Amino acid sequence: MQFTDLNLDKRLLATIEHLGFDKPTDIQQQAIPAAMNGHDLIASSKTGSGKTLAFLLPAMQRLMNNRALSKRDPRVIILTPTRELAKQVFGQLRLLAANTQFKSVLILGGENFNDQAKTLAKDPHFVVATPGRLADHLTHRHLYLQGLELLILDEADRMLDLGFSKQLAQINTAADHRKRQTLMFSATLDHAQVNEFASELLSKPKRIAIEHGHSEHQDINKRFYFVDNLEHKEKLLSYFLTNEAHQQVIIFTATRSDTERLAQLLNEQGFNSAALSGELMQSQRNQIMDSFTRGQLKILVTTDLASRGLDLLNVSHVINFDMPKHTEEFIHRIGRTGRAGASGEAISLVGPKDWLSFKNVEGFLQQKISFDSVDGFKAKFTGIKKKKPLKAKKVNDKKVHSKKQDKRPKQQIKQKVNFVSDSAGDLPVMRRKAKLAPQDIDESNE
Ligand code: AMP
Repeated sequence: MQFTDLNLDKRLLATIEHLGFDKPTDIQQQAIPAAMNGHDLIASSKTGSGKTLAFLLPAMQRLMNNRALSKRDPRVIILTPTRELAKQVFGQLRLLAANTQFKSVLILGGENFNDQAKTLAKDPHFVVATPGRLADHLTHRHLYLQGLELLILDEADRMLDLGFSKQLAQINTAADHRKRQTLMFSATLDHAQVNEFASELLSKPKRIAIEHGHSEHQDINKRFYFVDNLEHKEKLLSYFLTNEAHQQVIIFTATRSDTERLAQLLNEQGFNSAALSGELMQSQRNQIMDSFTRGQLKILVTTDLASRGLDLLNVSHVINFDMPKHTEEFIHRIGRTGRAGASGEAISLVGPKDWLSFKNVEGFLQQKISFDSVDGFKAKFTGIKKKKPLKAKKVNDKKVHSKKQDKRPKQQIKQKVNFVSDSAGDLPVMRRKAKLAPQDIDESNE
């Protein structure tokens, strides 16, 4: 299929040609016609597969084909979980809108509220926004959504994870009319909360799933390394940065304070790096992202703030210094490399504290993961073995534990019970500490 087969306006085709795209990607081939036919969509496809154009092109086309429902209200709203991603989507929208009369604005948290109110008063056709700030403007009646034709939720699952369900519901209610179309996109859309939410927001949605979260991303080489502790992680990290040819690198840590500490350490070691976290002022966030996008900054140390959607073509390596708390973020983090057909390396450091998250990722990917090692950096830690259930056998119709029978009177047997997570991390399971055999759990690794 070619872009010319998609019934797109010639101005849009000219921009696509200018961008140098030969043919639509798989998600574009499926999502564009479905969206142009007016369907609500739940669309998932792997990271870096061209999802942004898959919703922007039908959105532009819809505005070109149809008369506005209202002269004042925005016609399309695109919501994203982070400011950085919203900026990126806005950039692509501006390119597509360049040859048209459509006005678009960017409404982000952390920026001047009154200035934004003035911009909204100019009746833009497109609003790209983060949900919290847009909901604030709705509350202040700086915009109305009765005329909204298209609501697009990019990385919808992450917005829910971040606790934006109330704001999304508010936006939904403000734009609750028959003619509205809703599109949801992400690489990971198959969790229960999303489905529940989708059933409220979407009407008879069409589902499109192309090589989504669980499938193997052929362009990303995933490698896992055992580590013993923080110091070991730091040494292995500088080994990789010194010995592996790389262009740009994104390092993910568990917390904001870790980003600062690690970036400082790397700078002391002579690596050009900076920390990006939600704690920074918006102007600092912009400055750091700009210098990373321009390639002046080589290493970005960040949290899951940057795990979603950011399209940075020169990222050769993603390093999970800490494994992610939310399992799906693994897919999104590593998806910052290997974009648009390029190849990339995704290195994960797995220590005792990461073990549970690692097991969850392994379960999510539905594959047995093997570990690599580097000479001179081998870890003692090799994972926490799954506990074997205590064997019980029947003697005279009574269940007794097979190893040693406790001869003490009943009241003297004080069994210590504590909770630990099972290795898949799904449910807490009870383990009787007194009865644990040494081979069941390697205490030195805990
Ligand atoms: P996205 O998943 O939207 O972030 O896009 C990932 C990358 O693919 C971006 O760099 C896009 O510019 C690029 N891209 C989008 N559509 C196409 C296409 N049809 N052919 C080649 N590259 C594309």
